[in-house]
Amino acid sequence: MPRPVQAYIDLNALKNNLAVVRKFAPDANVLAVVKADAYGHGLLRSARALTATDGFAVLRLGEGIALRRAGYRQLVLLLEGFFTADELSLLVQYDLTAMIHCTEQVEAILSTSLVGDFAVFLKINTGMNRLGFPMHKFTAALEKLQNSHCVRSITLATHFATADETTGIDAQFAHFKRLTQNNHLPKSLANSAAILRYPATHQDWVRPGIMLYGVSPFADQLACDFGLQPVMTLVSHVIAVQTLQPGKSVGYGRAFTADELCRVGVVACGYADGYPRHAATGTPVLVDGQRTRTLGRVSMDMLFVDLTPLPQTGVGSTVTLWGKGLPVEDVAAAAGTIGYELLCALSPRVPVIEQEIDEV
Ligand SMILES: *Cc1c(COP(=O)(O)O)cnc(C)c1O
Repeated sequence: MPRPVQAYIDLNALKNNLAVVRKFAPDANVLAVVKADAYGHGLLRSARALTATDGFAVLRLGEGIALRRAGYRQLVLLLEGFFTADELSLLVQYDLTAMIHCTEQVEAILSTSLVGDFAVFLKINTGMNRLGFPMHKFTAALEKLQNSHCVRSITLATHFATADETTGIDAQFAHFKRLTQNNHLPKSLANSAAILRYPATHQDWVRPGIMLYGVSPFADQLACDFGLQPVMTLVSHVIAVQTLQPGKSVGYGRAFTADELCRVGVVACGYADGYPRHAATGTPVLVDGQRTRTLGRVSMDMLFVDLTPLPQTGVGSTVTLWGKGLPVEDVAAAAGTIGYELLCALSPRVPVIEQEIDEV
């Protein structure tokens, strides 16, 4: 038997979650965000379950080309645009849409000899202060692109800093509306959190990422409350059991010491598989479907779980690290991070098992 750690990817859940996006944003086009290898789920694998989307958003030129070579004809948006002018001819050749966020990119477009057919999203900085034109540079950039002979379509975009928090989107949304109110170009603003909470931001193109993978963007609301289903389930097995006498410790740094007799399961999954090393004693975990906790420090290839309350379990028991039955959000919270980071960090050494899409 191979090493038992495996990631199940449920393509039906992915399809379901796209339908949830449609339910929340029935009038918008959907740009499925599949950057970072589809948040660790596999770019082309995920695209297959998302064929009903109106477009895809990625980071790298190579990802856009891979989608075109696999036959996808939808809009493909590069979220950081291009990095050097020599990429422009490939953008045109593969019909990839670039998010244009800075003056240097506008100048590069204006100075190319490309003719026709270049589609862009023009990004406005409304307060995130990461990418995008500030208010005083936006109008000039828009005019230059509109007057350029090689730009065929322009969509206005912005990105929210706190759509998932109590601060919300009001200030940024007001800023965006002020700048674009007299403008009939299509608009794109909403990430998952804005799709779920702020319908007014949906407009022409929504950009769901994390919700497609069945994870809640909110600290105070569960994914299942929205009808979202987890796509990735990371499982392994107990490969050894240790019995700790009171006062004995387990693992590196002796980070957990038993205060009573303790049964410890050793699980074949560690930080080299993508499990967060910052997850301290008490991080939730399922053993044969029952919730228990991790113990001590996560090592590169193994971690420890408390089997004391689960006398039926032992070597060979199935351990769910996150996914079905245990939201990745809960594990992330215990490790001081967010579900996004854990999904993206799934290691390439973990074999993936696809659950097939039901025939429709
Ligand atoms: C990653 C990203 C998204 C998706 O965000 P989620 O919170 O995962 O829905 C949307 N827009 C931009 C610009 C992004 O970079």
